[in-house]
Amino acid sequence: MKSIGEALATVMEAFAPVGTERRALLEARGLFLAATVSARWDLPPFDNSAMDGYAVRAEDLAGASESSPRVLVVAQESRAGGPPPGALARGSACRIFTGAPMPEGADAVVIQERIEREGDQIRVAFEPEARANIRHRATDLRAGQSLLPAGACLGAAELGLLASQGVAAVTVHRPPVVAIVCTGDELRDISDPPRPGTIVSSNGYALAAQVSEAGGLPRVLPLVPDRLEPTVEALRDALTADLVLTCGGVSVGDYDFVHEAFRAAGISASFWKVAMKPGKPLAFGTSGRVPVLGLPGNPVSAMVTFEVFARPGIRRMLGDPLPYAATVDVELDEPVRHGTGRVELARALLQERDGQLFARPRPSQGSGSVLSMVGAEALLVLPADQAELPAGTRLRALPLRARRGSAEPPRLDG
Ligand code: AMP
Ligand code: MG
Repeated sequence: MKSIGEALATVMEAFAPVGTERRALLEARGLFLAATVSARWDLPPFDNSAMDGYAVRAEDLAGASESSPRVLVVAQESRAGGPPPGALARGSACRIFTGAPMPEGADAVVIQERIEREGDQIRVAFEPEARANIRHRATDLRAGQSLLPAGACLGAAELGLLASQGVAAVTVHRPPVVAIVCTGDELRDISDPPRPGTIVSSNGYALAAQVSEAGGLPRVLPLVPDRLEPTVEALRDALTADLVLTCGGVSVGDYDFVHEAFRAAGISASFWKVAMKPGKPLAFGTSGRVPVLGLPGNPVSAMVTFEVFARPGIRRMLGDPLPYAATVDVELDEPVRHGTGRVELARALLQERDGQLFARPRPSQGSGSVLSMVGAEALLVLPADQAELPAGTRLRALPLRARRGSAEPPRLDG
């Protein structure tokens, strides 16, 4: 038996960022830059006012106070988007608005709330600090500096920054296409009429959604019966994708053909018993640059093994420098018993109280029931060597929502 950590390390070696492509900004959200983007312009591009008020020469107000106010003539105006203001003459002020360019010679902005205006004159009864309320050119960035590094994830702020620099398109890692091959004579399509002894291939839907959520592009292939040739044929078709996930048929039953089919399709594969529950049997191989993961068919096992092994792989293919989900420390809210021998990844609910996360396993933990995944917020790591876990035990959990990325693989082996 392999530990989860060993299996994950081997699996991840086969994953690398896929090819790059140019994308318009709004088509690039959530993707990762494949190359550093440099600033094209200074940011801010020109000295401008941070407030509504009056641009002044600070020296004109030297020594100003309540007992000795100064009076300046409002000689001009500068508004955002307006014509560039001329140089500011001594003893005068420029009416100015937020974002408007500073006139040459002005070195402070006094906010409008702090002055008194009468006609075309303002009365200032304080000494402004030099450079007050000005956003100086290039204080954030200079042209040519790195704007965003390779590996940056393009969220709203990053897209706004790129747009502010006139960068309309970026080179990103394209999302990987992930083929999903479900095997089993008992499976039928969702639109097929029920037949005795058959079930809908629900894993195709759950896995496709997990792939999308991870940032990949799912391609669910037609269902494959439990026979060698159709399985081989389906695998050959699937290998045109960037990653292949098969589901079911990975055990050693009389009708489990995945092992043999991998070999026949030219996939160099290993078959592992991984010391985890659910999801013990797992196949993993590669064909050229394409990794192939053979997941177990039980709906919960398929989803959990996807989360542990396929999700970080897809994240790496996207160029995510933090492809793993970070675990969180939790405290058990109630006592738990579990079968020993393997680490159990129990579906759990999380609750935060007084800054501490508490976990409560869902009542049903059967690996055959997709119901036990519904609403689950985390996979709680129940160590292999502890059968009785009293309330208050400190454990790790792998969040299934609002994950934080990590460069390090999670420690799931208890
Ligand atoms: P297997 O791994 O092929 O032995 O399948 C284990 C269990 O998972 C069996 O009860 C299958 O019927 C079920 N199963 C396999 N594939 C799927 C699927 N695509 N959707 C739902 N259940 C499945
Ligand atoms: Mg089967």
